[in-house]
Order: sequence, then structure tokens, then C-alpha cells
Amino acid sequence: MTRSGVPASAGRILQMIRSGQVSTRGELQELTGLSRSTLTLRLSQLHAAGYLRSEARRAGAMGRPSGILAFDETGKFILTADLGATHARMAVTDAAGNVGAETTRELPVDEGPRPVLGVVQKTFRGLLRKAGRDAGDVCGIGVGLPGPVDFATGRVRNPPMMPGWHGHSVRESLAEAFGAPVFVDNDANLMGLGEQRLTYPGVDGLLFVKVGTGIGSGLILQGRPERGVAGGAGDIGHIRMRGPAEEAPCPCGGSGCLAAYASGGALARRLTAEGIPARTARDVVTLVEAGRSEAIAMVGAAGRLLGEVLATAVALLNPSVLVIGGDVARTHEHLLNGVRTVLYERTVPRATRDLLVATSALGDRAGVEGARLMVLEQVFSEEAVDERLRRMAVPG
Ligand SMILES: [Zn+2]
Repeated sequence: MTRSGVPASAGRILQMIRSGQVSTRGELQELTGLSRSTLTLRLSQLHAAGYLRSEARRAGAMGRPSGILAFDETGKFILTADLGATHARMAVTDAAGNVGAETTRELPVDEGPRPVLGVVQKTFRGLLRKAGRDAGDVCGIGVGLPGPVDFATGRVRNPPMMPGWHGHSVRESLAEAFGAPVFVDNDANLMGLGEQRLTYPGVDGLLFVKVGTGIGSGLILQGRPERGVAGGAGDIGHIRMRGPAEEAPCPCGGSGCLAAYASGGALARRLTAEGIPARTARDVVTLVEAGRSEAIAMVGAAGRLLGEVLATAVALLNPSVLVIGGDVARTHEHLLNGVRTVLYERTVPRATRDLLVATSALGDRAGVEGARLMVLEQVFSEEAVDERLRRMAVPG
């Protein structure tokens, strides 16, 4: 029996093995309480369906050989796309994250869903060719978008900066083309998921803030993104600010938004207005790296304004780790110091004493790594595996 009192299904057993909770039959038997014969049946179902592999291991000189049970990652390929406001990164990887092929390109998301997803499809096909694979090898597709997403339906919900995308089903567009399940989430949620699983695996509460062309955030609690009731959790970019940002017009149609002052897009516009040409968040980073004092001062002030919003977020959520990612985070100390200064000023020591504030360790790849992990989580979930075994009519 599992803790819930329901006998562990094959899907549940795979979940326990994938998470690293158990790795031998003995451990499984102890934890599930299943009879030896039931456990054997469940494991043979999982083997037959290609979910499991066994590795022989000698328990010791005198012991009997005992098998190590492991998730079989071979032949399970995943297509991932991290779509930002101006650029996209797309990859084909295996389940373990080994990259078969990967590319980045300029792809403005405001061109609308049909043209953008057309490019994504074409790029996916090219990546599969390059990796020597075809659509039949793909077990799932993961897409990150810079706006609120209804995770259950894969539809975009009232995105402030993605004209034409509201209500569009990204899932349907791509599932038809590749015959594989498609999962869609907000980009900051996926970046947070990637950082939590790969950089801070022991951490229960992680807040990821993406400062790219816009500003968004994702909260990972107990290993999962917290999406809120309409997929809008973490959409902090359009909080209206007082002070220096108050008059700044925002591409969302409002004014005084955090993103209208502190995002990479806003910094580029403001620098340009001061006679220092910059088109994108990346141009801002280049100016900071070149030591342009105007750019450095602006990024510092952006960090301080962001810190005001994050002080509230940290007080409310009490996370262990606050990760700043996105292009503008590559100006590390300038943005990060601004955030830190205000964060420590505005919160009680208890809220920040054990808080680690860091830039993204995965950098540009956080989004595609998170997308891969999301796909694995969904395609090999307890329910999905049990359902697939039922459909395959694997006896048991
Ligand atoms: Zn706005």
C-alpha cells in the first residue's frame, strides 16, 4: 500500500523510480507493501512498455546479484521551444537532456501565433533532421511563452505583450504536426523549474524573475510551478509603480508599469531617447559590458525598482532562493546589486536571512531545460503511464 492506502500502480512505481526515491526491488517492496508476485507483474509491465531498464549489480562478494531499477531514457526524444519577446531557442534532446541539435534565432512573438508557430514547426523539423531523428521518435513537445498560459488547455490568456495570441491553442497547432503531446507554460515558470530541478534540487521554494524584453516571474513550490487560478501567477511586469516609473508608457497600453521602466525593452528605449542607440535587451547588456556609464546607472536603478516589487514577493512567499534570469541579468552585479540593496532595506531580516539571491546558473538554456522537465513530468506521470498501459492492454 502507498500512504494513501491505494495499492501502488505501475505508474506510481515508475514515478518512485524516476524521482530516485527507490532503486531496487527490495526498497519498492518495503515502500509499497505489494506482494512479490504483484510487484513482479507491475515491473514486467513497465519493462514491456519500454519504461524501465535493469542494471545488474553485485550486492557484495557473498550477496546475491541484485538489480538496480532505472528509468529507460533511450529512444525518448523531446522537442522544446523557449519563445521570448524577440528571440527563440529551440532544441531536440533525449530524456536525460543530452542535446541532439539546438538553435537560437530572432523571432518576434508579436508577429502573431500563426507565423511564429509556423517557424517553430519548420525549425523543429530541421532540428530532428540534424539529430538524425523523425517525428516518430518524439515523446513530447514543451513550449514556453512570455505571457500567461492556461496550462490545462495550452491556451494563451490575455497576454499583455503578445497581440493576437489570446485564446490561441498552441497545443493544437503543434500536436497535429508532430503527433506528440504538447505542453505549454509561461517562460518564467519553466526557467524556474529548470533552475530548481537542476541547480537547487533540495530547495522547496524558488522564485525566478526573468528580466528580458519584459519582466515576468515564476514561483516553484515543492518542485512544481504555482500558476494561480488563470495562469497569471507571477505576472509582475505590469504592476503600476510610483516614483520615477510613474509616467513611463508601456507597450501593454498602460503607463507606470514596472516593465515600462525596468525591463530590457524599456532600458533600450530610454537609452535611445538619451541619444545612445539600443534596440533590444541584448544591446543594453552590450552597452553595460562596454562600460557606458549611462547604461550602468539605468540598469542599477532598474534593479532597485524591481527590488521594491520583490521585497513584497519575498515577504509574502518566504522563498529559499531568488534567481534573476533573462538577458538583463547578464549585467549581473549592476542589476543584482540594485535588487539586493532595496530587498534588504525593505524587508525584515527574517525574510532575507536565509535567502540566496543569485543570477541564473543555466543562463540562456534555463527555458529549454525547464520545458524538457515539464514534458517528462507530464508524459511519464503516474496517470499518463497507467493510461498508456491500459490502452496497450499490457496484462495486469
Ligand atoms: Zn504594462
